[in-house]
Amino acid sequence: AETPVRPVGVVVIGAGQAGLSAAYHLRRRGFVPAAVPSRTSAEHRGFVVLDGEAGPGGAWRHRWRSLRMATVNGIYDLPGMAQPEPDPCEPSVDALPRYFAAYEAEHELPVLRPVRVGAVRRVDDDPRGRLLVETSAGTWSARAVVNATGTWTKPFWPYYPGQGEFAGRQLHVADYVSAEEFSGRHVLVVGGGISAVQLLVEISQVATATWFTRRPPVWIDEPFDRQEFGRTAVARVEERVRQGLPPGSVVSATGLIWTPALRAAAARGELERHPMFTRIERDGVRLADGGFQRADAILWATGFRAALDHLAPLGLRGPGGGIVMDKTMVAAEPRVHLIGYGPSASTVGANRAGRDAAHSLAGLLTAGEAWTS
Ligand code: FAD
Repeated sequence: AETPVRPVGVVVIGAGQAGLSAAYHLRRRGFVPAAVPSRTSAEHRGFVVLDGEAGPGGAWRHRWRSLRMATVNGIYDLPGMAQPEPDPCEPSVDALPRYFAAYEAEHELPVLRPVRVGAVRRVDDDPRGRLLVETSAGTWSARAVVNATGTWTKPFWPYYPGQGEFAGRQLHVADYVSAEEFSGRHVLVVGGGISAVQLLVEISQVATATWFTRRPPVWIDEPFDRQEFGRTAVARVEERVRQGLPPGSVVSATGLIWTPALRAAAARGELERHPMFTRIERDGVRLADGGFQRADAILWATGFRAALDHLAPLGLRGPGGGIVMDKTMVAAEPRVHLIGYGPSASTVGANRAGRDAAHSLAGLLTAGEAWTS
């Protein structure tokens, strides 16, 4: 028999850094874990976290093994529980899911998984009415939705002519496991971001590689004040989102930062960039100058997009292609908050956005009494 629709105050979608931060702050503000729905707990106070993964860790469950705690760029602790001193050699794919699991247990967060949200819909035109959250495990009806679904599940593959003709392997950064699988081969790395550069250097140790980017990368010296630099980058993405434009990547707002490891790679000649090829052929690519580059594999380090397909029924995207936001709230749909989106797509940003969304939703606790469900 079909499970009945479960009423709840807030549904948080996604249990990465952003979703867990929201859950932590919702608890602190008086929302009650409602993983086991109970008629006796006031519905508008209850909240659940629905996560599509099989276990804790969000996207960290899927990062390549060579991304170690020493090579991530500074991971902020989740609110209210410090991560034990990390072993710099441990893969982040092990260390962070372990920390997230301990965190969920310590704060008794009501995370249900694997639960994949397929669609969020309005019940009717009443702007204070409920939102239906349709999932692989039944339907919830919520007063508000905090969306924290990240980007990892939506890798972006640009289209290039001839893509289907290539006889070698094509993969996205999201599928990358380790450089060893390319040993002795020739790999084309496409993309101008941090992942492209890190993987280019890694692959160059065991294979040969050619680097392609659409625009010449902008390299900057390691900023004197990293925090101030980070704030400026975030402010630029924030401004785009305020205007209803797609957020864009942080690198597009900042440029690539020279680190000692990258300088060494450049000195070895591993960071020579080529303008984008014009066409993909069976055994390689046609270069912008008409030449040909043979290849065994093409690694698309072309980024990710916000995983928001399940919000499509709400029609949030404006003419600019983005979603106009007022802090974490969707300007045109105040019942929906987007966190870990655009300017808050970093561990520190996700922490703050989770806190801000919970703060904003605390009003529901009192407003809820006046509402009918
Ligand atoms: P995620 O961790 O992606 O969590 C989203 C969760 O939502 C996942 O569990 C996912 O399965 C789930 N989900 C998605 N869709 C659905 C659905 N429809 N239904 C149910 N569940 C769903 N940031 C830093 O601050 N420092 C770094 O050093 C750093 N390094 C990075 C390295 C790489 C390679 C990448 C890709 C990112 C890095 N970042 C770093 C960015 C940082 O990882 C993210 O900004 C942050 O972890 C995102 O957290 P999140 O909660 O938004 O998303």
